[in-house]
Amino acid sequence: MENVEVAILGGGVAGLSAAKTARDAGLQATVFEAEAAPGGLLANFEVDGFRFDHAVHLSFATEPEVRAVFDQTEYITHKPEPMCWDEGHWLRHPIQNNMHPLSTDERVSMISGLVSREDREVENYGDWLLYQYGQPIAERWPMRYTRKYWRCEADKLGIDWIGNRMRRPQLEEVLRGAFQNDDTNTYYVKEMRYPAQGGYFEFIKPLLQGCDLRCDHRATAIDMDARKITFANGQVIKFRQLLATIPLPDLVGIIADVPATITTAVKTLMATHIDLISVGFSRPDVSPYLWFYIYDEDIEAARAYSPSIKSPCNAPAGKSSMQFEIYSHPNDEPANRDPDYLKENTVKALSRMGLCDPEDICLLHHKHVPHGNVIFDLGMEERRDTVREWLMEKGIHLAGRFGEWAYLWSNQAFMSGHDAALNLQGKAKSPNSGARR
Ligand SMILES: Cc1cc2nc3c(=O)[nH]c(=O)nc-3n(C[C@H](O)[C@H](O)[C@H](O)COP(=O)(O)OP(=O)(O)OC[C@H]3O[C@@H](n4cnc5c(N)ncnc54)[C@H](O)[C@@H]3O)c2cc1C
Repeated sequence: MENVEVAILGGGVAGLSAAKTARDAGLQATVFEAEAAPGGLLANFEVDGFRFDHAVHLSFATEPEVRAVFDQTEYITHKPEPMCWDEGHWLRHPIQNNMHPLSTDERVSMISGLVSREDREVENYGDWLLYQYGQPIAERWPMRYTRKYWRCEADKLGIDWIGNRMRRPQLEEVLRGAFQNDDTNTYYVKEMRYPAQGGYFEFIKPLLQGCDLRCDHRATAIDMDARKITFANGQVIKFRQLLATIPLPDLVGIIADVPATITTAVKTLMATHIDLISVGFSRPDVSPYLWFYIYDEDIEAARAYSPSIKSPCNAPAGKSSMQFEIYSHPNDEPANRDPDYLKENTVKALSRMGLCDPEDICLLHHKHVPHGNVIFDLGMEERRDTVREWLMEKGIHLAGRFGEWAYLWSNQAFMSGHDAALNLQGKAKSPNSGARR
């Protein structure tokens, strides 16, 4: 039986960056990835000459450790200027700051609600939205969007995940945007980067140099007493240290002898699934925007973006592409959406938004992504921390979006893997204890 010094489960950015840091520290690290290729959420796929990432993916990394790797790849810089589609209107994002295309009555109602909003105890995301925006704005936009993106009511979510993701309104900017097209960029990052060619995965490709990576190795059983891992392909290895970046529920599910409290807590941890509808067009100019949010309830997609605007190399010459992100909740019925219905709904959306005629579409592709965003339902953090603490007591180091069970961007997942690998050595500045939300 093979003996491995550090076994890393998961070959996404967190697992690959952990392996690099461990290697740099002189440890022998081996990455075991379930799929046939590494990358996880940062991998991409090609159909008929069109390349698609798994959802939008642009980089705004600032950490020197991340930039030292990502910047080895030639990149294109984009200004983030997202748009919103709401019932026949294109409005700049953030929508409450750009209401000028709406009717006078609508604008008066939104601004009156903002000005007269009351102080309130904030116990959940719904309270937070009412407190920040007032009822008319909260109900018209973020609460509707929550149903599409998080697939639940806002009052069922906590607020720890918000950070700088939501623009807090300032009356003066709301008023200006209600009267004129104010193009001040208030987005929380000013520049976004994307590889000139090859898809987002190119940014993390340098992490593969010197990496002992074993693909097609899905871990199916872990025995922490014998320090053994069994894989779906029949292989069994022994390890000295274990670092896991795979989803916490999957990880707990393959460990022997888990106490009932942990099994119960981990069952409550949920993440959205994503159905991606990827579209190729025989015209070069279909999407007017790099990405946009969609509010109409009868359009299934919450967000759409254009891979061919991210990089022209993502589409054959003279053609263009878009990808629509459709979210679902693990408790949704039916559990799996019908791909044909989702495709049809997307084609209708394209036509309603006036972006193309059905005959411009030369490719329509569906892909299901099982883990999208960790759901921050009320009290989730406490239940997650109980699970994480038990795993860490068992001696398992945890990293990444689904190992930390947090809302991490790719740069944060990279740093999470890096920090966890330093912990193997006891070298990290602070323990990797889920501080990133
Ligand atoms: C819709 C969406 C949009 C996003 N947009 C951006 C963006 O614009 N910019 C940005 O920086 N970040 C973005 N992100 C975040 C980014 O995708 C993640 O932070 C990052 O990819 C997480 O990497 P990871 O290694 O932690 O997890 P993953 O990429 O999920 O890697 C985990 C790996 O573990 C493997 N695995 C699972 N089970 C097993 C098993 N039993 N045995 C072995 N291997 C296993 C999986 O196959 C996978 O490869 C976005 C995420 C989503 C969902």
